[in-house]
Amino acid sequence: MTTGRCLCGDISFKVNATPQGASVCHCRQCRKQSGHIWASAYVAMADLSISGTVKWYAASATAKRGFCPNCGSFLFWKAHAEDTMSFALGALDDPTGITIEKHIFVADKGDYYDIADGVPQKD
Ligand SMILES: [Zn+2]
Repeated sequence: MTTGRCLCGDISFKVNATPQGASVCHCRQCRKQSGHIWASAYVAMADLSISGTVKWYAASATAKRGFCPNCGSFLFWKAHAEDTMSFALGALDDPTGITIEKHIFVADKGDYYDIADGVPQKD
């Protein structure tokens, strides 16, 4: 089982299925909220259990972003139209057994870095 927690530990979560779609997001929102890029994977809502009180930010009409109200760790991303939840790979306990599959929203990436790991990129 995959487990994770925020920096202060107020929020922890358990992933009860194989994480899907491990990706690094370069969109403006993820960069603003995380401070750089945001790596995540997702599972069905039913396969994710969260302990603690997540603060949700309605970043757009289509999705919300969850973070710890105490330490600020950006942990979750949820599209209203999807029955899945994305969780931060950086919050996971080791070993994760996960390998990044793709970079997404590369067209929005910052000008201060290059993507040079050979992993497929999507605009
Ligand atoms: Zn916290």
